[in-house]
Amino acid sequence: MTLIKTEKLTHQYDKNTSVSLPNISIDKGETVLVIGKSGSGKSTFLNIVGGLIKPTSGEVRVNEVSISSLSQTQLDQFRAKNIGFVFQKHHFIQALNVYENIALAPYFSEVKEDKVYINHLLKSLQLDDKAGKKIDKLSEGEKQRVSIARALATKPIIILADEPTSALDDENCARVLDLLQQHAKEIGATLVIVTHDTRLKDRIDNQINLS
Ligand code: ADP
Ligand code: MG
Repeated sequence: MTLIKTEKLTHQYDKNTSVSLPNISIDKGETVLVIGKSGSGKSTFLNIVGGLIKPTSGEVRVNEVSISSLSQTQLDQFRAKNIGFVFQKHHFIQALNVYENIALAPYFSEVKEDKVYINHLLKSLQLDDKAGKKIDKLSEGEKQRVSIARALATKPIIILADEPTSALDDENCARVLDLLQQHAKEIGATLVIVTHDTRLKDRIDNQINLS
């Protein structure tokens, strides 16, 4: 069953920069790798699908709903309930600890905080001994795992990950990819990873090339 479908998407950032994206169809529960060189529109694609930027033309349908037909409030609710983002830059709140940063996701999404599930995530991402630590005390690999836990904490139907492994060494790269896939599977989520990280190419069969 098709979950995400894009048609004739373009985005004009300014008069010299216009991004055109191919028509893309992604099934429910699928893992897809979107590849393409730097500047090919990977982040733009992800942000449009997640409703963070409005396309200049074209449309995105998620579960048969055209997201451009939603009001800003409906869009915010849609995003909060259905989408988990793993951003390239983490956007953590430094004053809060690891657990609190993860729990912010359900809080802002008005989804009930599932303490048992968050603790399960912390344990399986090997972060259980870091729960009370401040973010700046963590290594890059640990921060990336917190970012995954935060994206999963609301049990979204779609996980959108922007360059989730680019800043990681080979070992952490493999680990983060495994964890993303394993947890997406656990909650039945569709996983879309955009990256220029060539290490992922051999590890995910389903690929869309933007360049
Ligand atoms: P990728 O993630 O594949 O590197 P992006 O989606 O970030 O590519 O960018 C696609 C194109 O849009 C590039 O030419 C980039 O310079 C441009 N672009 C991205 N964000 C902005 C922005 N905020 N303002 C102007 N141009 C932008
Ligand atoms: Mg990018």
